[in-house]
Amino acid sequence: MNIRFYNARVLVQDQNQKFQVINGEVWVEGNKIIYVGDGSDTDKVIKKNEIIIWQREVDVKKNLLMPGFKNAHTHTAMTFLRSYADDVPLQVWLNDHIFPKEAMLKEEEAYYLNILGIMEYLTSGITSGFDMYLYPYATAKAAVDTGFRTVITSGLNNFSSSIEEVEEQCHKINEMSDLVSFVPGFHAEYTCSKELLTDLANLANKLHLPVWTHNSETALEVKECKERWGMSPTKFTDSLGMYEYGGGGYHCIWMDDTDYEIFKKHNMSMITCPASNAKLNDGVAPLKKFFDEGINVGIGTDGPSSNNCLDMFREMFLASGLSKLKEKDANSISAEDILRMAISGGAKAMCLDDCDSIAVGKKADIIMIDLQQPNMQPINNIVKNIVYSGSKVNVKMTMVDGNILYEDYKFNIGFDPIEIYEKANRIIGRMDKK
Ligand SMILES: [Zn+2]
Repeated sequence: MNIRFYNARVLVQDQNQKFQVINGEVWVEGNKIIYVGDGSDTDKVIKKNEIIIWQREVDVKKNLLMPGFKNAHTHTAMTFLRSYADDVPLQVWLNDHIFPKEAMLKEEEAYYLNILGIMEYLTSGITSGFDMYLYPYATAKAAVDTGFRTVITSGLNNFSSSIEEVEEQCHKINEMSDLVSFVPGFHAEYTCSKELLTDLANLANKLHLPVWTHNSETALEVKECKERWGMSPTKFTDSLGMYEYGGGGYHCIWMDDTDYEIFKKHNMSMITCPASNAKLNDGVAPLKKFFDEGINVGIGTDGPSSNNCLDMFREMFLASGLSKLKEKDANSISAEDILRMAISGGAKAMCLDDCDSIAVGKKADIIMIDLQQPNMQPINNIVKNIVYSGSKVNVKMTMVDGNILYEDYKFNIGFDPIEIYEKANRIIGRMDKK
């Protein structure tokens, strides 16, 4: 589909990655951006005697086109456990509430629960997710069927799946569609044996792929790992050769100096999940320290059961506010830094460098922010408005891979929202009856 957006404000980045707002047009041909500019130099794109047939020409009415947010850590299909078990510590939440219900989940149910999560992403301007959950084929199929972009990592642990299955998932999902990709991962140090982790490190090195995991999420996790192995989770898993091709950690709250060195040495990324960390009382991630060390940072919602909502505006505000509180310094992190984490930081972690900005040649993962609403006025500083006062009500359109999947509060994903809601309620209802 060829789409021309005109009369737009466009959020672009200069060579130093600094955000700028320009007035003009964005042209999308198929799944690629072919023109960004003020409209006076379109002869760069249109050759003599050639015309582009537009399927749609959209008057943006001076609203803002910007790159979509990257949700760099999530467990999408956990939508069925939203508001099901809350207000308890992480280990109680996992062992007493989540694991027993997950054991009852069927693959076809996970498919529809993924679609529910994808719908919520679209309403928040999220154009791709980095997913770790049961039934990765259901996750991949839901993404492909709805047109959503997803990077999947395995949640390998002692109780489910195997190295052989992870290798097979890696090959099959990476060949399925341009919209989905797969990298190896393990749930956490505390749910995996040393043998299993060693096998995973060997697999990642054989396939030349990065490895991802929940890392140093709670103080207890780090304390127990040190008692078990005499090292932090980062140091222990690195000692097994886990990060030769990079990767990273989700949460990374309770880090020591050696851990940062390992992240730098292997060019790893950290993904912060401030809402989940706050709700589970895990702690506040040292974002400024990661930033000062030059380590790439992305932002994730974590799953809809620990958060409980899949909203990047809420995450950005919390990442900013909690970090300022932790540092006791309102100047410790800027709105620009936070927005960069939510877009290009996540994209880098997810190996989606071709989806990280509105620029010629990039994939068309674009959102439209409605500026004609009270929380976006006056327009003193658009980046600050997005991070500090923006909300999902400002998301007027979400485009993934050149397709508009959400526009003016309506979905265009091939599924009736009411049917998806009914299915989600039936799934958790079935489990509760047993
Ligand atoms: Zn998680």
